[in-house]
Amino acid sequence: MESKVFDYIGREQARQNTTVELIASENFVSDAVLRAVGSCLTNKYAEGYPAERVSGNRGRYYGGCEIVNDLEEYCCAMWKKVFHTDYHVNVQPHSGANANLAAYMSVLQPGDTILAMSLNNGGHLTHGSSVNFSGKLFDMKFYDVDAQGFIDFADVEQKAAEYKPRLILAGASAYSRVIDFARFAEIAKRVGAYFMVDMAHIAGLVAAGDHPSPFGLADIVTTTTHKTLRGPRGGMIFCRPELAKKVDSAVFPGTQGGPLEHVIAGKAVAAEEACTEEYREYIHAVVRNCRAMCGEFLRMGYDVVTGGTDNHLFLLDLTKTGLTGKAVQDELDRHGITLNKNCVPNETRSPQQTSGVRIGTAAMTTKGYKEADFIAVAHRIDAVLREMQQSET
Ligand SMILES: *Cc1c(COP(=O)(O)O)cnc(C)c1O
Repeated sequence: MESKVFDYIGREQARQNTTVELIASENFVSDAVLRAVGSCLTNKYAEGYPAERVSGNRGRYYGGCEIVNDLEEYCCAMWKKVFHTDYHVNVQPHSGANANLAAYMSVLQPGDTILAMSLNNGGHLTHGSSVNFSGKLFDMKFYDVDAQGFIDFADVEQKAAEYKPRLILAGASAYSRVIDFARFAEIAKRVGAYFMVDMAHIAGLVAAGDHPSPFGLADIVTTTTHKTLRGPRGGMIFCRPELAKKVDSAVFPGTQGGPLEHVIAGKAVAAEEACTEEYREYIHAVVRNCRAMCGEFLRMGYDVVTGGTDNHLFLLDLTKTGLTGKAVQDELDRHGITLNKNCVPNETRSPQQTSGVRIGTAAMTTKGYKEADFIAVAHRIDAVLREMQQSET
C-alpha cells in the first residue's frame, strides 16, 4: 500500500510548479541535493565529531561512522572553500535558529547582553524576540534603522557604548542594503564585544562576491543553508579557530543530539554547486533581477523601503495605498503569487497585519526568470493592488 503522504507531496509539488514564488527566504534545490537528503544516511546515528577535528573533541559515540566521518569532513572542507576562509566550521546545526542558539551559548552566559537589530526593522526572531529563547535567555538591546530604513550607525555606536554588550550581532531577515561589517567590527572592538554575523539571507551573495564578506571581521558567522545558498534546510556556524572547541561543544552536546547526516550530505552537494561559475552567475542574476523588479515598482510610483535594493530582496511600503501587508499577501495567494507581509520602519500596524510586503528573487531566478519576467510580475502585482484599492473605496 502506498502511503497517503505521497499524495500530499504530489499536491505540494504541483503548487510549487504553478505559483510565482517570491518569498525571499525560499529557493528550489537541485535534484542532487534532494537525492542526498532522501538517502540512507538518515539511518545513521553519529553523535560527536570526526576524531581528527581541530577542536580536540572526543570523536563519535557510536560505531560504524567511518563513512559519515569522511562525508562530514568533506562537507566542512567544501564550505571553507566556498567562502575562501580558514575559519573553523560546524555543519551540524539543524537550522538557522539552532545555529544561533549554539553560537550564543558558545561565548555567552545566560543573562549576558546582546546588541542586535530591532525585530520590526529586519532582525530575526532569534535576535531577541521575547517569545524566543534569545529574548528569554539574554538581556537584549536593539539598534534601529534611520527614517529611510538604513542601519543607523550612530545608534549602534551610542547603544554599544551605553550597554557594553558581550556580543554585537549584525544580520537580518528583511534588510535590502549592504551591511557594513567592517564598521560593526570596529564598534565591537572598541567596546570589547564579540562580533557575530548572521548571514542567513545573504550567504549566497557573500559566496558569489556580491556582498562584502564577514570573514576576517566577525568572531562567529552563522547561516542557514536553504535560502540564497540553495541547499537543504539547515544551519552552519563558522568561527575563528580559537573558538572552535567552544562552538563545537555548544552544538553537541550543548544544544543538539545526533546530527542529520543525510542533510549534511545535502549541504556538501550544495557546497560543490556553490563553488561553480554557474552558481556565481545565478547569484549575479538574482541581484540583477531584484534591481529590475524593484526599479519597476519605483517607476510605477510605489514606495520602497530605503528607496531601492542592493541584494536579493526589497520591501514595498504600502502605507500610502491604505492596504495591509496581510490583505495583500492573502489576495496575491489567490492569484498564484506567493510572498509575505513584513513590517516597515516605524510600523504603525501589528506584526499580524503590517504595512509592507517582502519580495525576493532567489527562487524564481532558479526557475529561469529573467529581468523581463520579474517586471511582468511587478505589473501583475500592481494590477491586483489597484483592484484591491478600488474595491475598498
Ligand atoms: C531564516 C533566518 C534564520 C533562521 O533559520 P531557520 O532555519 O528558519 O531556523 C536565522 N537568522 C536569520 C537572519 C534568518 O533570516
